[in-house]
Amino acid sequence: MSKRKIVIIFVLIVPLFIIFALLNITQLDARIHTEQGNQSISEEIDNGDNSPVEEEPSDQEEPDGEEDLAEDPPDQSNSENKGSGQSLNDDADMLILVNKETSLAPDYTPDDLTVPNVRFSFEGPDPKQNMRQVAAAALEELFAGAEEAGFYLFAVSGYRSYSRQETVYTGHVERLGETEANKISAKPGHSEHQTGLAIDITSESASFSLSQKFGETREGKWVAKNAHRYGFIIRYQKGKEDLTGYSYEPWHLRYVGKEAAHEIFEKDLTLEAYLENR
Ligand SMILES: [Zn+2]
Repeated sequence: MSKRKIVIIFVLIVPLFIIFALLNITQLDARIHTEQGNQSISEEIDNGDNSPVEEEPSDQEEPDGEEDLAEDPPDQSNSENKGSGQSLNDDADMLILVNKETSLAPDYTPDDLTVPNVRFSFEGPDPKQNMRQVAAAALEELFAGAEEAGFYLFAVSGYRSYSRQETVYTGHVERLGETEANKISAKPGHSEHQTGLAIDITSESASFSLSQKFGETREGKWVAKNAHRYGFIIRYQKGKEDLTGYSYEPWHLRYVGKEAAHEIFEKDLTLEAYLENR
């Protein structure tokens, strides 16, 4: 290669390098200045962003600059983002956990809802009469069992859609304020009634109401002692308020299947504790 060619190449390429280097420095500088947190430059680069700067780092909009990205628990967004609630696609999943931390997707509707052939405390038809098939069949057996023992139960409220729960919860908040409302009512997506596996029941002796009084009636006592034989548990027990997040609800039954219900009853567990140790 002649000297002249080398000079020409040199003259053309060196300025390009200089321009490129300047661009890089300017853009990196801009990124450092827009950082809201206290990340150092080396962390910035260690986060895998040391490639050319055409893309903005995705964490730049993090409102909390103190957040330690490396230690972000992976399940946090799962429980707090109501948009990513669970859907029950598996028909066999009767042990689905729905509580204050774990929610159902807003659009989750069981696809096998049916009205159990039992007495209701009101004249139907009403969507809240529905339950999932397996739970509806078990409820019919429970009511029949109670009747054999001489007790007449009445169903009050089964399946409840996300939007219906929204209305119910908002009503409670308006009446009681948020703190009190949260003790007795679930936020939308957080109600077991949306699973189609829960049912509220009552008796004439409890004035057909959903109140703790039901637990004191002979009907309520029979239910507390026998529901597990039909696959149901009293979901919100007295003395377990800290674990379930709810006040005692002797009227709220949750279908979990006979095996789980038996163990939960025998060991005096919450559903949360049962699932944790399974
Ligand atoms: Zn209930």
